[in-house]
This record gives sequence, C-alpha cells and structure tokens, in this order.
Amino acid sequence: MTTIGVLGLQGAFREHVRSVEASGATAVVVKKKEQLEEIDGLIIPGGESTTIRRLIDKYDFLEPIRQFGKLGKPIFGTCAGLILLASEIDGSYDVHLGLMDIRVRRNAFGRQRESFEAELMIEGVAEGYNAVFIRAPYIEGVGEGATVLSTYDGHIVAAQQGHYLACSFHPELTDDHRITAHFVKMVEESKKSLAS
Ligand code: GLN
Repeated sequence: MTTIGVLGLQGAFREHVRSVEASGATAVVVKKKEQLEEIDGLIIPGGESTTIRRLIDKYDFLEPIRQFGKLGKPIFGTCAGLILLASEIDGSYDVHLGLMDIRVRRNAFGRQRESFEAELMIEGVAEGYNAVFIRAPYIEGVGEGATVLSTYDGHIVAAQQGHYLACSFHPELTDDHRITAHFVKMVEESKKSLAS
C-alpha cells in the first residue's frame, strides 16, 4: 500500500487526508520528522507559509524534507505549500525548501479576489476542474526543468517538475480528487522505480 504523509503543522491538513484516502492510498498526518521514513510521498498543505515555516524550523523539518525530496520521493505543495517549495519568492529574500525551480508571488490575485473559484484545464490531469483559490499565490515563471500544467487569467497556477507538484489552489476542499489522484500515481510510480 502506498502511504502519503500530510505535513500537519498548520493549515488544511485534515481535508488532504480525506482526499488521499478517496484516491486509494493510505494517509498519515506527519508531525515529527521521523515519520518521513514511513511515507512514500508528502503533501505540504495550504495555510500561512510564514507560520508553517516557523513550525518547520521549530520541529527541525527543513533539512529532513529537503533530503526526502532529494531521494526522489514526491512532494506536492498546495497554496502555502507551493510557496514553501519555490526557489524564488517575489519581493522577498526568504526561500524555504527551494526544491522547485519556480518563482512565486504571494497573495497574488489581490484583495478584491481574496477567494474565488474557477474552472481550470490541468494538462494531462483534468478538464473542467473546479478550483478553490484562497489568498492564493501564482507562479510568475518556471525554470527549464518544470512544466506548466495550468493557467488562470494568464497566470500559472499549477506546475510539475519531475517528482515535485505544486498548485495555487486547494484541491482538498472539493470532492474532485483528480489532482490528488495524479499525485498518488506519481508516488506509486516513484515507489516502483526507487525499489528497482
Ligand atoms: N497567502 C498564504 C501565504 O502566503 C497562502 C494562502 C493559502 O495557503 N490558502 O502563505
């Protein structure tokens, strides 16, 4: 059985558990770095990236998560999780995990649009996907190794770079589990190739 951890320091982690289970994998809430050894893939949820970063430091997760990714294990960052994965954050010297070659802008859709829903086409994953955005970031640009999976209003809202996946929206808040299922598939494939 494939086991997916959801980083449970702050934010919408419980809903991700539901979405992972609906996609046919086992989900565990990860609160201690030792648990990274028991999981095949990791989801970093939405919430507040600065708060999650503070807790990542407090519980000594930064290097262990980087190592997890460098071993080839898949990581999916949603909303604040996308910001945590990025190699560049617009208007800030701060970079958190820096694992994905993407440049992000926080709270990018502006005040009038704090939260909204939009229908997206997600390349190779889903058509007519109803996405929930909450104080969402967007990706301003991707590096050579990363592929744009979806745009909204001319802005990049989902991307993939090998075993790293990131989206601006909250896939755990609806009953459409297609992007979570895509991640579960990535994890199953990496598990096979890491075992061989
Ligand atoms: N605006 C938040 C941040 O900068 C992200 C919002 C979210 O995860 N829903 O961390």
